[in-house]
Amino acid sequence: MQVTGEPSFRESVDLMFNRAAKLMDMSPGLEQKIRVCNSTYTVRFGVRLRGKIETFTGYRSVHSEHMEPVKGGIRFALSVNQDEVEALAALMTYKCALVETPFGGSKGGLCIDPRQWDEHELEQITRRFAYELIKRDLIHPAQNVPAPDMGTGEREMAWIADQYMRMNTTDINGKACVTGKPPHAGGIQGRVEATGRGVQYALREFFRHPEDVARAGLSGGLDGKRVIIQGLGNVGYHAAKFLSEEDGCKVIAIIERDGALLDPAGLDVEDVRHWMNGHGGLMEGYPGGTHVADGAAVLEEDCDLLIPAALEGVINLENAARIKAPLIIEAANGPITFGADEILRQKGCVIIPDMYANAGGVTVSYFEWVKNLSHIRFGRMQRRAEEARSRLLVEELERLSADQHLGWTLGAGFKEKFLQGSDELALVRSGLDDTMRTAYQAMREVWHGREGVEDLRVAAYIVSISRVAQTYRSKGL
Ligand code: NAD
Repeated sequence: MQVTGEPSFRESVDLMFNRAAKLMDMSPGLEQKIRVCNSTYTVRFGVRLRGKIETFTGYRSVHSEHMEPVKGGIRFALSVNQDEVEALAALMTYKCALVETPFGGSKGGLCIDPRQWDEHELEQITRRFAYELIKRDLIHPAQNVPAPDMGTGEREMAWIADQYMRMNTTDINGKACVTGKPPHAGGIQGRVEATGRGVQYALREFFRHPEDVARAGLSGGLDGKRVIIQGLGNVGYHAAKFLSEEDGCKVIAIIERDGALLDPAGLDVEDVRHWMNGHGGLMEGYPGGTHVADGAAVLEEDCDLLIPAALEGVINLENAARIKAPLIIEAANGPITFGADEILRQKGCVIIPDMYANAGGVTVSYFEWVKNLSHIRFGRMQRRAEEARSRLLVEELERLSADQHLGWTLGAGFKEKFLQGSDELALVRSGLDDTMRTAYQAMREVWHGREGVEDLRVAAYIVSISRVAQTYRSKGL
């Protein structure tokens, strides 16, 4: 979505980069090297479908190879174009650096409306697209590792992995060529919900800092906060579900492609999603809340927290001045344009930027890639050893209590939890939580500690660019 007079998505990302670079001490040459996109490959291929040949256009863009493999999702949408893929690839570079996943940045996309094709047709198209990328090493466990994005999920990733392995039958690390696979096909527990879970962990960390919360004119914790969410897809659904079910947030509006649902008393996210699944992805007719046809207008409703989790450019020069939310977390990539960002900042709105907010996906993708390369499930070696050690301690405490007639008893709930070793899901959640906390603290240190830094986005760029620059310097560039 591009409003007239606004820079394109890629230009918007570059302008945001420039704001941060101005505050850094970097040679112009290095600055330019980091900013530019290294390469974009365009592929056009034909697939025989429904009795005729359909031609599709796809892209794989590599923004930075300062670390390899490069990493970034594959998007299936009609709106996919080179500018968008390059912007998203750049964001991947900065995101990976910010959350310390050892990857360069990449992104891919296919111009397609996945809802127009049935499952078998989509499989043919996906495999053919993957074939084109694989034969050019643009999908490869050591060089370029895609993941899901808008319009793709576990199913497509499993097809891509299988395609790679058919073409590279002796590559023992073949499964690591793509992440976001289903657990039974080399995936990892917790990947599907990872981006939404990351949004939740990011907000929990933000609310641990009352000084930061006050900057948004808010107080207290997440409990009772009124939330508006746009996009009830993978990221939006999980974020809204976890925030409402586990943190006491009230989801007062959900905006989707067919309008918005509003309920000041709070919507049941699970129920709305269930309804959408049974009604072709539409919310209209849902028996709760009020349905409003103009969904985008609901972005401007009064709330404590706005979560754009659908697509880029939805908050732009046209509507930014009317946005009332004091706190916005960018679950989607690029939902706020460069111009809108400036207007919102002037209004005092705090924005938790995309490259941090939705980094949960790439973080857990990193764990999946490591799991694939090590060929063993996380927790498999240590879980029972951990349990045995805990049991030893519990039994010793109970023996002491009995021998000394102390009358101590350990609470049943405590005992059960303490005796449980960490399985893969617990370890993934722990790693994700740690990552989101550490990255926030790195951004926050720059936000509060560095002269001229007014907002979290510039702070995030500074942290990321410094790390990328450091890698380039150590390579002698
Ligand atoms: P998705 O396809 O699962 O969901 C997108 C949702 O947005 C769908 O429910 C769709 O109906 C809705 N939508 C589309 N157009 C809309 C509109 N105009 N108004 C309101 N809703 C609309 O995609 P996703 O994977 O959840 O990705 C969403 C965003 O999050 C994208 O910007 C993506 O780049 C970003 N992201 C995704 C991941 C991931 O792991 N999937 C990771 C990082 C970032």
